[in-house]
Parts: sequence; structure tokens; C-alpha cells
Amino acid sequence: MAEAPADQLRIPTPALTALVSDIFVAAGCDAAESGRIATHLVGANLAGHDSHGVVRVPRYVEWLEAGFVVKGQDAEVVTDGGAFAVLDGKWGFGQTVAPQAVALGIARAQQHGVCVTALRNAGHIGRVGDYAEQAIAAGLISIHFVNVAGSVLVAPFGGVERRFSTNPVSIGVPLPDKPLVLDFATSLVAEGKVLVASSGGKKLPEGALIEPDGRLSTDPHTLYGPYEAVGPRNPANGKGAIRAFGEHKGSGLAFMCEMLAGCLTAGGTSGPVNERGRIANGMLSVFISPRHFGTQAEFERMGLVYADWIAATQPANPAEPVLLPGDPENQRRADRTAHGVPLPAETWSNILATATRLGVKSPV
Ligand code: NAD
Repeated sequence: MAEAPADQLRIPTPALTALVSDIFVAAGCDAAESGRIATHLVGANLAGHDSHGVVRVPRYVEWLEAGFVVKGQDAEVVTDGGAFAVLDGKWGFGQTVAPQAVALGIARAQQHGVCVTALRNAGHIGRVGDYAEQAIAAGLISIHFVNVAGSVLVAPFGGVERRFSTNPVSIGVPLPDKPLVLDFATSLVAEGKVLVASSGGKKLPEGALIEPDGRLSTDPHTLYGPYEAVGPRNPANGKGAIRAFGEHKGSGLAFMCEMLAGCLTAGGTSGPVNERGRIANGMLSVFISPRHFGTQAEFERMGLVYADWIAATQPANPAEPVLLPGDPENQRRADRTAHGVPLPAETWSNILATATRLGVKSPV
């Protein structure tokens, strides 16, 4: 796979994880929570999803300092229905409260065959595929619908105004030696990619953004309004929107994320008003135990045969074989674990600035 440009820094995983963990300890989190946040963010970089990796460290610290996210919270079970549960994340770090909801879902699905968990008021939960991987490690299928209560960035199909957030969906399937993880935002691009493009990085794909008059755009100013070459970008200053992926189909999926992760969890939707004054993830998860369906061996046999058949499809470009969901992440993970996480110099210096402000010395 094409890797990051050679002019980017490569930071070894253990040093990067230690630095991020030390930053959150210095910011007031305990060692266990700091380690979870660091492992999750670095894990997103290892999987190749840099928009959900350590680039978020300064923003997470600011959220903690501003009280938008609260350290040391445990997800509270507010309704326990046996094979379903409603949990309140109480604005705790997503990397703490989402794994707690997932652990409950896994345990109950192993008991009942299925479990549905509805998590609300979670701080940013990051890369959703991480939670599908946790279920896969326990031998379970899982489906996750996520919304971002209080955040509007994305126009629905046929519209020019912001109504959705980037509402990701993830599905994990545990095939032996071939874990399948589908994990994507329902926006045509993640906001992080608009941010990267605004700093002279990779350009946006055609039609990623839309102006209030309906013109399609690849110009980050559509989302951020006026900004300096170096400095903050605020989507509140822009008049346009990101477009939902997949025309009416992706837009419909984004809408259903609001119904499932926003309304059913009672965590709230993207709008029309942000009553709570801060944003939070909601996640509706379904956990399924194949063995309870009496077909574990047959499920795996059929699944492997089918996955291999798909992977063996004649490629349109011989240099680009057909991939299965999760393949790109596994390839990136192998490369980056061996050679370090590539980071743009600006991302690295922003992390170091946060570390220095908190009195943390970088091990690199
Ligand atoms: P993306 O567009 O890179 O799509 C990733 C998915 O597509 C993966 O399942 C991957 O295996 C598959 N894929 C990629 N290339 C492929 C190929 N050539 N052939 C077959 N499959 C392929 O992802 P994205 O939309 O940019 O999302 C990035 C991350 O952002 C995700 O981890 C998502 O969970 C996260 N996210 C989180 C939030 C939040 O609020 N917590 C919001 C939005 C997105």
C-alpha cells in the first residue's frame, strides 16, 4: 500500500504510546485511563486512521480542561433488560466508557446469544472499528451505529444545510485468522480530512463539500470559512457542509444512525438545538454469538469460502488486488508496528507543545 511521504516523521509505537499516556496523567487522568486513551489513539494510527489518532491529543486535553469530558467516569447501567442494556457514559472518556459497554454486550451475548447495548453521553469514542475488534476477539459478530449528539457538519442527500454529523457505522465478523471489520463514517470524508486539506495536505475528492447555493466544492473554506495558513479551523465559521457518501443510500444510513444512536439511546441527535452545550457520541451496538445459532462451524466454513472468493476477484488494475473489509487496516498495522507511526511535523509539534505545557518530557 502507498505509505506516508518520506518527509514525515516516524515515531516508534512504544515511545508514542508512553508519551500520550504521560500527557493524560499530567492532565489529571489516572494511569489506567491514560493508558487506554493512548493505546486507542495510537491504535487508530496503526490502523491507518490518522484522523482519529494522536492528532486528537491537544483537543482531548482541551476538552478535559474545559470540562466537556470528565476523567474517571464509569458507564452506568441505567436499564438492565438481560439481553439488552442502556448505559450512560456521563461524559466520561469514550476510551473508558465505550469498552465498558462493549464488555457488557460481549458477556451478555455469550450468555443469551445476542445482546443490544445503547450507550449515551460518551466522550469521543474514536475509531469505532476498535470496538468491533474487541467483539471479534471474543468470537462475536457485532454491529455498531454511532452518532455525535450536538454536532452538525453533513448535508443530507438533496440538501445544502448541515443536519448530520459524520455518523460512523462498523460491523465486525470473526472468521478464523481472517477478522473482517467494516468501519467508516457516513460522510463522504471525515472532518479530519478537510482539516488536512486545509493545511496543504491531500486534496479532497470531487464533490466532498457543498456550498449553500448547491455548488459542489473541494475547497476547505466551504467548511471553515476564512482561516490563516497556520492556526485553528472552526467549522462554525463556514457556511457549507460535507456531503453524505453514497448519495441517497449513505444519507439514509446517516439518518438511521441518528435514530438508533441518538433517539433510541436518548443521548440526543445532532440537532436542531444542542441543549447540553457539548457534543457526545451515542452508540447502539448489537452483539451476536454465532455458536448460539447452532451454526458456528458452518458459518465459519461458508464465510471463509465466500471471503476467499471475493478476494480472488479479477482486479480491474492488476497492481491493486480486491481487498476485504479490514484488509487495509491490517496492512497498515503490520507496516506501522514494524516501522513506527508516520506523523506530519505539524501534528508532532502540536503534541509536543501540549506535553511541554503540562511539564511532560518526550521520550523521543
Ligand atoms: P474509510 O473511508 O477509510 O473506510 C474504511 C473502511 O473501508 C474500512 O472498513 C476498510 O477496511 C474499508 N476499505 C478501505 N479501502 C478499501 C478497499 N480498497 N477495498 C475494500 N475495503 C476497503 O474510513 P472513514 O470514513 O474515513 O472513517 C475513518 C474512521 O473514523 C473510522 O474508524 C470511524 O469509526 C471513525 N469515525 C469516528 C467518529 C466518531 O464520532 N467517533 C466519527 C466519524 C468517523
